[in-house]
Amino acid sequence: MEKIAPKLDFKNTQLAFQAKSKVQLRKAYWLFWLMGRPLINAIGPKLLMFAFAIRLPIKGLVKNTLYELFCGGETLEETAQTSKYLFQFGVRTILDFSVEGEKTEEGFDKTCEEILEAVKHGGGHEEVAFSACKVTGLGEFELLEKAQTDAALTDDEQAAFERVRGRLDRLCAEAAKQKTPIFIDAEESWIQDTIDMLAEEMMEKYNQDNAWVATTVQLYRWDRLAYLQELIQRSKEKGYQLGVKVVRGAYLEKENERAEEMGYKTPMQPNKESTDRDFDAALALCIDNIDHVHICAGTHNDKSSLLLTQLMAEKGLAPNDSHVLFSQLLGMSDHISFNLGHAGYNTAKYLPYGPVKSVMPYLIRRANENTSVAGQSGRELLLLKEELRRRKRA
Ligand SMILES: Cc1cc2nc3c(=O)[nH]c(=O)nc-3n(C[C@H](O)[C@H](O)[C@H](O)COP(=O)(O)OP(=O)(O)OC[C@H]3O[C@@H](n4cnc5c(N)ncnc54)[C@H](O)[C@@H]3O)c2cc1C
Repeated sequence: MEKIAPKLDFKNTQLAFQAKSKVQLRKAYWLFWLMGRPLINAIGPKLLMFAFAIRLPIKGLVKNTLYELFCGGETLEETAQTSKYLFQFGVRTILDFSVEGEKTEEGFDKTCEEILEAVKHGGGHEEVAFSACKVTGLGEFELLEKAQTDAALTDDEQAAFERVRGRLDRLCAEAAKQKTPIFIDAEESWIQDTIDMLAEEMMEKYNQDNAWVATTVQLYRWDRLAYLQELIQRSKEKGYQLGVKVVRGAYLEKENERAEEMGYKTPMQPNKESTDRDFDAALALCIDNIDHVHICAGTHNDKSSLLLTQLMAEKGLAPNDSHVLFSQLLGMSDHISFNLGHAGYNTAKYLPYGPVKSVMPYLIRRANENTSVAGQSGRELLLLKEELRRRKRA
């Protein structure tokens, strides 16, 4: 096997935006432009939530703009169409029922049923690479937080915790049965030990022959590279395949603010360079142990994505090696997804879906990310502009 990765050109906007019509390109351009304006970004999300709260008829506006850019559809059926469409361009999908903020047992059961449907759908459709779930969609945040402390759970809380475990178990069992993997997302550090404990339990139970369950490791935490090393070691000792999505992490500001307010050492890295260093080291660690590890690199970072292609080549892995997946969120970094897909790498878009109002927290995080992540919306704008120019010339 050649030790050099196939040449990739992330600047190829023709391939990057082949799935977008001219109208969609223009719309995306204006949306990224708006998200890049600090004032609009500061007040826009609050106005939107307020408008929903007082029942102003803004669903159509949101659906035709932010929702269309970042979400797969309101229902699994609509999302399935988006999946099929993207698959024509060599890009698969990760189904992510994105309803957040459920507070009742009935709501958690409903979310579990919805995700179960997505897992079943994934089983019969090669365009679906994975399904995804958040443990906070299956149980109360405060309960997960208490389970991480030394405080003993009351009998009622213990029973509620067993229901969370039961819901997650149903999803993972179905994933193993359908032979279609499921990701367990990583969340805030003050509930992450509980999530890690559950994720490891599920991997040990269901990953005997393949990584049907995958956990997530956030490298913006200074302790996570060591945790990944431990995970690899532990899974080898216990004899199961490790499924792991590596990401930098989505809750930086919130984590730092809470640590400062409560006076404990922040779990965040001291700077972006340290996060980048550990993220890239995590990629190398996974590739070193690739016989045993199934890795998904969830990143919009060009350099890390290219590094992973090079690490694969050096290890003698083919671009479509089934143990390696690249993934980006729908609506972001198409220049990475579609160019990698075209070159034969396993690539999937994270496809959040659900009713417009319920996915608003997700949409607001995306809008915020495009101002807080340095250069992200600027880079999207440049690429979109270049492709609009190219089409005009053509
Ligand atoms: C497929 C997919 C799945 C995802 N799943 C999860 C998940 O389960 N849980 C989760 O938390 N996130 C998840 N994310 C979100 C992901 O964490 C963010 O998209 C990511 O942090 C943005 O980083 P990047 O790798 O794209 O690259 P970049 O744009 O290069 O990096 C930006 C990131 O670097 C880090 N950073 C920035 N400044 C600093 C600083 N001063 N100090 C330390 N670190 C800094 C932050 O994490 C920031 O988000 C997922 C993303 C994708 C694409």
